[in-house]
Amino acid sequence: MSDEQHQNLAIIGHVDHGKSTLVGRLLYETGSVPEHVIEQHKEEAEEKGKGGFEFAYVMDNLAEERERGVTIDIAHQEFSTDTYDFTIVDCPGHRDFVKNMITGASQADNAVLVVAADDGVQPQTQEHVFLARTLGIGELIVAVNKMDLVDYGESEYKQVVEEVKDLLNQVRFDTENAKFIPVSAFEGDNIASESEHTDWYDGEILIEALNELPAPEPPTDAPLRLPIQDVYTISGIGTVPVGRVETGILNTGDNVSFQPSDVGGEVKTVEMHHEEVPKAEPGDNVGFNVRGIGKDDIRRGDVCGPADDPPSVAETFQAQIVVMQHPSVITEGYTPVFHAHTAQVACTIESLDQKIDPASGEVAEENPDFIQNGDAAVVTVRPQKPLSIEPSGEIPELGSFAIRDMGQTIAAGKVLSVNER
Ligand code: GDP
Repeated sequence: MSDEQHQNLAIIGHVDHGKSTLVGRLLYETGSVPEHVIEQHKEEAEEKGKGGFEFAYVMDNLAEERERGVTIDIAHQEFSTDTYDFTIVDCPGHRDFVKNMITGASQADNAVLVVAADDGVQPQTQEHVFLARTLGIGELIVAVNKMDLVDYGESEYKQVVEEVKDLLNQVRFDTENAKFIPVSAFEGDNIASESEHTDWYDGEILIEALNELPAPEPPTDAPLRLPIQDVYTISGIGTVPVGRVETGILNTGDNVSFQPSDVGGEVKTVEMHHEEVPKAEPGDNVGFNVRGIGKDDIRRGDVCGPADDPPSVAETFQAQIVVMQHPSVITEGYTPVFHAHTAQVACTIESLDQKIDPASGEVAEENPDFIQNGDAAVVTVRPQKPLSIEPSGEIPELGSFAIRDMGQTIAAGKVLSVNER
């Protein structure tokens, strides 16, 4: 990694449209996976009768290695272009991708939407675009993938572009902020070099479009917030919480507080990529050790912050939500599970305060009786167990959540204000 500016990039799109393959291709073309590793995976893939799937296979293997690997190595996939150091937020194809996309585990600055040329817009294409819009993803690069399967036909490409534009218009995503590129992740067309098969296309190739993404918003000067992903016991060190620094700086010697567990102490050591470091910054995945904290004192879902400016714990909070897919209607008293950063807590929607017109952002109705798919609303929420969460206006990284029920994401939202315990 260089000292270039950093970008968190989400790769979104319907299952099997080629997200993993595209990431494998990007890692490969930018020299982020050594050639011999690709070769090795290729051979393995061929042996297992998966010949030709080497890029997807590389991705699978990287994910597996990560799970197998040393516990505190939770780094995401990374690659660099001329302009940016990219981190692919979350592993494409990951079951909880949508949820993670919302809950900050993978806050993306910009996104690549993969749509297979032979399949067009599908349910997850819609869902991901909707979320990208709700969560304020800046720009979208639309990779119309698998062009090889439609003989690099311009009309097939244009058809998909029209479908995607319709979708973007539906969710009021400014199509000015979207670029469309015909690619084949599998064959490498228009990714790092211009394709010989798309003479009719004279726009940017993918790497160029990535280079031209707008720079991410400068990091906020918010205090330290580090949601805990896991807590390990490591011999010779002791209790090691791990997680990603979302905001602020974690220094050795700092006095920190974990909320809502409400314990604290002095940071003894901070480790990143298996090495001890004096401090960690936003985006860093770290393991650290705090004097006097035992394994049972803290848990996944706690947030670590400065002892003198500890993470907020909500008695109730007011939030703006958008309902994506609920089989019926949402009324007061509904208690689904909220996923915020690394926490999962059942929360009651105590009151439906206002229905919002999604187009204008203005109040459409005070105290509606119910809300349903496509509605945006301001609601008051009461966590059934202590939950650390922040107003998104103050600490956006800790201010959004997904609402899950019946195995799916039914709504997404942002915290407007927190009424602390
Ligand atoms: P994901 O579920 O979106 O991550 O999709 P994968 O990357 O796993 O790809 C799904 C299938 O499509 C795999 O069999 C890939 O080899 C194949 N695939 C991906 N990209 C392309 C492409 O550009 N052309 C062709 N022909 N197949 C592709």
